[in-house]
Amino acid sequence: MRITHWIGGKAWTGVSQRTGDVYDPATGQVSGQVDLARASDVDEAVNAAHEAFARWRHASLTQRANVMFAFRELLNARKADLAEIITAEHGKVRSDAAGEIQRALEAVEFACGIPQLLKGGFSENASTKVDVYSIQQPLGVVGVISPFNFPAMVPLWFVPNAIACGNTVVLKPSEKDPSASNFLAELFAEAGLPDGVFNVVHGDKEAVDRILENPEVKAVSFVGSTPIARYVYETGTRHGKRVQALGGAKNHMVVLPDADLDLAADAAVSAGFGSAGERCMAISVVVAVDPVGDELVGKISERIAGLHVGDGRRPGCEMGPLVTGAHRDKVLSYLDAGRSAGATLVVDGRGHSIDGDDAGFWLGPTLFDHVGEDMSIYTDEIFGPVLSVVRVPSYDAAVELVNANRYGNGTAIFTNDGGAARRYQNEIEIGMVGVNVAIPVPVSYYSFGGWKDSLFGDSHAYGPDGVRFFTRTKVVTSRWLDPSHGGVNLGFPQNS
Ligand code: NAD
Repeated sequence: MRITHWIGGKAWTGVSQRTGDVYDPATGQVSGQVDLARASDVDEAVNAAHEAFARWRHASLTQRANVMFAFRELLNARKADLAEIITAEHGKVRSDAAGEIQRALEAVEFACGIPQLLKGGFSENASTKVDVYSIQQPLGVVGVISPFNFPAMVPLWFVPNAIACGNTVVLKPSEKDPSASNFLAELFAEAGLPDGVFNVVHGDKEAVDRILENPEVKAVSFVGSTPIARYVYETGTRHGKRVQALGGAKNHMVVLPDADLDLAADAAVSAGFGSAGERCMAISVVVAVDPVGDELVGKISERIAGLHVGDGRRPGCEMGPLVTGAHRDKVLSYLDAGRSAGATLVVDGRGHSIDGDDAGFWLGPTLFDHVGEDMSIYTDEIFGPVLSVVRVPSYDAAVELVNANRYGNGTAIFTNDGGAARRYQNEIEIGMVGVNVAIPVPVSYYSFGGWKDSLFGDSHAYGPDGVRFFTRTKVVTSRWLDPSHGGVNLGFPQNS
């Protein structure tokens, strides 16, 4: 199967002779070839978006909302097809792919309310017979660059808001699982979105660099690993663009001695191994506050033994493969690194039984105990099914550990003590906090974003921050002449 760009409302093969292999991670087989854009392909998409912007920026709020409502209905009706595409290229199990689409639908629903969201302010008689009001206008062509781990949801964190605000979009999805983006483009076309408002270019660094350099691209929303997020932020802003770049994570779940340990163990296993740990909000570190360590590790181990790992298309599978062979091998290397560094390998994922093709990119759930802060399994974002337990003597030591970490995406505290939970949400230097909720991804009418090395830029994704990011404010000071105007006055305007 050939996966082409989508430019100006149709599939577009362009000049690129470069293609990349796309794999089915559960079989290890190549399932398609994706076009990898040259700079000229990106320019073609940006030109199409630029031309479309001249008209789309004038589309009424009603028209924009109607497109979003139609898109929402189509996406909802076709979600099983999209889930199948996601499972085939990403590897996550069907139910997980369905969950991703459900969260994506919520982001679309938020954008359906665009007439309400773009209301400006109005001050009548700010000065005598002078009215002042603010309006929010679109930026122009915006670029969206997304990672492999949520091939539908992450693009839809940005694209609906960007379009509803009157911008036009060039999306560059991950080359590892590109087909979901083309599926979304077809649905947008069916929903009545004019040609050129939403474009997809596939590719790698070359495509990203051209998006960052093309002067017609006014803003870039990026999600991916921290080194690339930093690079995109620095390069994009150097080229005068507005940039929000969401990076990697190392999310800690603190378990206090008074917590319900069954609830905490269920949550740690669900949040640690869902989507094979390939979520930016996955829990990768459990911080066990003395004396819960032994009991908690025992309960987590028991639950791991019962997990059904295999091909996400097979019934009952709860955890799929890793996205590529190279990524699986990198994750595997941490098993030896952790053991050599002195951590206890409580559960070795290499021994887990697999319900799938031997050639798939498998690694079963893995658990380390007695992990130290200087070990690479603690300092690095592994992005796989490897959960570390760090034992600490007190609540204060737990807070100190989490705050010292370079990442600040998500965290959770498990406790029955409301006072401790309230203190934690106040003291912790992390963008998204869960209280007895292991994956606190905000609902679509709040905004999503981390602190520290998990986000570069000022704006979080979607929700109110999304609307602010995709618009710029203009303030109009207006006086309609009446017989009382006062003639020439060279002084600085003063209110009266
Ligand atoms: P990645 O950084 O490798 O790739 C992200 C995007 O950048 C892709 O579109 C890719 O083609 C492009 N890219 C890769 N290398 C590049 C380079 N050298 N120059 C320019 N562009 C380049 O990330 P990934 O492996 O696709 O996704 C996993 C990462 O994304 C993890 O670190 C995860 O934590 C992070 N993530 C973060 C969030 C968040 O909200 N903070 C959400 C999802 C994923």
